[in-house]
Amino acid sequence: MKSNDAQAKFWTELGRLLGGGVPLLEALESLSRGPAGPLRQAVRRAAASVRGQRSFSDGLRASPKVFGPAVVDAVRRAEAAGDLDRAAARLGENRPIKGLPPPRAMRRFGELVARAAREGASAIHVASVFDEKSQVSVPQLRLRVGGALGRPERLSDADYREVLSRTKQLSGLDLAEQKLPQEGRMMLELGGKRLDVQASFAPCVLGERLALRIFAHAEPRGLGDLKLPDEDAVRRWCRGPRGLVVLSGPALPENVLYALLAEARDGRQVATVEDPVESVLAGADQIQVEPRLGLTFPRALRAALRQEPDVLGLGDVSDGETARLAVEAALAGKLVFARVAAPDTSAALDRLAALGVDARLLSQALAGALAWKSVGRLCRRCRRQYEPTAAELVPFGDDADILRGLAYRAVGCRRCHGGYDGAITLWEARGPGETPLQPILRDGLSRVAQGLTSLEQLQPLGSG
Ligand SMILES: [Zn+2]
Repeated sequence: MKSNDAQAKFWTELGRLLGGGVPLLEALESLSRGPAGPLRQAVRRAAASVRGQRSFSDGLRASPKVFGPAVVDAVRRAEAAGDLDRAAARLGENRPIKGLPPPRAMRRFGELVARAAREGASAIHVASVFDEKSQVSVPQLRLRVGGALGRPERLSDADYREVLSRTKQLSGLDLAEQKLPQEGRMMLELGGKRLDVQASFAPCVLGERLALRIFAHAEPRGLGDLKLPDEDAVRRWCRGPRGLVVLSGPALPENVLYALLAEARDGRQVATVEDPVESVLAGADQIQVEPRLGLTFPRALRAALRQEPDVLGLGDVSDGETARLAVEAALAGKLVFARVAAPDTSAALDRLAALGVDARLLSQALAGALAWKSVGRLCRRCRRQYEPTAAELVPFGDDADILRGLAYRAVGCRRCHGGYDGAITLWEARGPGETPLQPILRDGLSRVAQGLTSLEQLQPLGSG
């Protein structure tokens, strides 16, 4: 990456972090973990200045080769005016930004994300819907908590417009575009938590619809934090010398790929290829895919392989070349963890076959596969125990015996969302053999027996 590009990226990121309510020092510290070089040195120097109660512009002035006088001056003026986030965004674009929403929009957006994070929501939906009573379209807001969408809440027209435009601005989308779908993402830091927010805009007839999916990233920790039912088997895969470990499931607060890589590290050379790099993993060489610059997944993977890693982590295998390279690397003696988008382990292996991986080579390379799913966690205050009918248990087959005829159902109270309060994770692990060690459905039923979730949440997993 050219130094100008790197600097533009730094300013854009800084603008997003500050706009999302992150304090300046925290924002600089998180950005000073970037790739080594003069820019990182300069950002660290600026962070030190802020930490020492001096101004940010003074800190920048200390690195004249990186930050020229025009930049220092723009920052100094922004400090005086109190709009550093907007100045940083302008510096990132290298031109003045027109049509920015007023500061109120920033507050509205910040409050909304803060509230969603506080309530443990996994998504925010903002839409304009037809109201039967008044016969007009009305903007509304709904939070998804523990898999269920909450009650619709009325939004004012001004708030609706402001949340949409602020989201576009923060996730690097076209502010003026309202007729085409757009997708973007932003990183926010809120109350010490790192949030990855993915924004999708859809042009609906009554107005734009926005879905914000929120992923909270905890610092990468160990395998034990995942609370896997088959922890010992998974630990064996991680400690093994070679082979392919296939991972599939939604983003979790604990990054599963990082937890497994941390377990596998043990003095070995670790490399990752990711889109994007979600956080820094100590002792690993992480490459971020940049298709805009021609750095596609297969190209990044080939570059990583030439560095002779012992352990490889692949953030997303979705093309044939990456899939084949991953299997070849595993057969050539490397331990490869590969994330594949699929609902369970069987589907993940089918997906690799569909991408053109030879079935015989895949079975030779495979060390194991792990899949997971998030389901709603029953609210302890209002859940109710009951005896499910035989018909209700049919989709779960013999596995339902574990319930001994008792389950819990969601009720709903003032403190939860329709009887659910947050989410829990269900797991499925399988070795190189044919059947999963612990099918996801059986793990789910054991959680139902413990009163942690309901049969309703497992319905989509049932065979019926
Ligand atoms: Zn409740």
